[in-house]
Amino acid sequence: GSTIGILGGGQLGRMLSVAASRLGYRCHVYEPAAAPAGDVAHAVTNAPYTDQAALRAFAESVDIITYEFENVPTSALDLLESIRPIRPNRRALAVSQDRLSEKDFLSEIGLRTAPYRNVETEAELPAALADLGTPAILKTRRMGYDGKGQIRFSEAGQRDWTGAPSVLEGFVDFSAEISVIVARGADGQVAAYDPGRNVHREGILRTTTVPCGLPQSLLTDAVLIAARIVNALDYIGVMGVELFVTSDGLVVNEIAPRVHNSGHWTQAGCAVDQFEQHIRAVAGLPLGDGQRYADVEMQNLIGDDMARLPDLLKQPRMQLHLYGKGEARPGRKMGHVNRLL
Ligand code: ATP
Ligand code: MG
Ligand code: MG
Repeated sequence: GSTIGILGGGQLGRMLSVAASRLGYRCHVYEPAAAPAGDVAHAVTNAPYTDQAALRAFAESVDIITYEFENVPTSALDLLESIRPIRPNRRALAVSQDRLSEKDFLSEIGLRTAPYRNVETEAELPAALADLGTPAILKTRRMGYDGKGQIRFSEAGQRDWTGAPSVLEGFVDFSAEISVIVARGADGQVAAYDPGRNVHREGILRTTTVPCGLPQSLLTDAVLIAARIVNALDYIGVMGVELFVTSDGLVVNEIAPRVHNSGHWTQAGCAVDQFEQHIRAVAGLPLGDGQRYADVEMQNLIGDDMARLPDLLKQPRMQLHLYGKGEARPGRKMGHVNRLL
């Protein structure tokens, strides 16, 4: 059988490995840090992305390379790609590794984003703030997740800096946050799941609920936006597209070129979940159609939430996923539950 290489061994890599083994593939995970995926993958390389020999050996041991983590350094990707194909492609990675290039790309293909300005250095911040006004959010261009590396400005006089090249975004007055989990196959076929409604707390996703209770016309629009993005990138794999719902339509917040936390509900709601869908796409198999068979609420188990586990387990239609991480530190995603509604 063939072997799928996965860059990144966190919970997403773990669930991708489970899906891949269910489809009869072997998995080789490359992860510099401690790897929850290590328990389930067939092989694990625990080495930094600067270890050329380890990268080469990894690439040679697999048939195709995919990733659960979009911030793999360019030098590592160059080496890997000289040996085996990487799916989704390098352009999708390049675009989404940098919030500025991501927003430029989205604008170029005619999609709305929050108003934004490049703030390369601290010295450029006052002009950008004067330009966009407040409230506004400063975000590091690279490496941010779970709201890390973000500063909110409520008034123009504030003087805080992220410490790295950033983008300043005007605050979007949204009534809801939704996301579309979309997949594009090697043959260009596109399948999308029902948009889910997302609730964040302290910058971290707490729950995703389907159906999201918004008008069908809006949901169709959301799916068409997601399809436009994957088609424009000639994308192969699953992508998460986060959107703001505003009084005059949808605004794209950000895209993630991988399986996405807000797509975990598909494990309980669909015949082919986002993890199987991603493996199917990168392996060149036909996609599932994404049809939803249940109403689901996904709840993340973050830090102290683990104390609620005994009670959660008493609910009879609750699907539990734990990631096998050690200590339940504050803000750490330990698992999730999918509750059938
Ligand atoms: P993720 O873990 O989703 O990758 P992230 O660190 O990339 O998170 P964002 O998605 O950019 O962060 O922002 C986190 C949350 O902050 C958003 O889901 C939204 O609730 C809020 N937010 C971000 N940008 C804006 C904006 N321009 N206007 C209003 N709210 C925003
Ligand atoms: Mg993000
Ligand atoms: Mg986000």
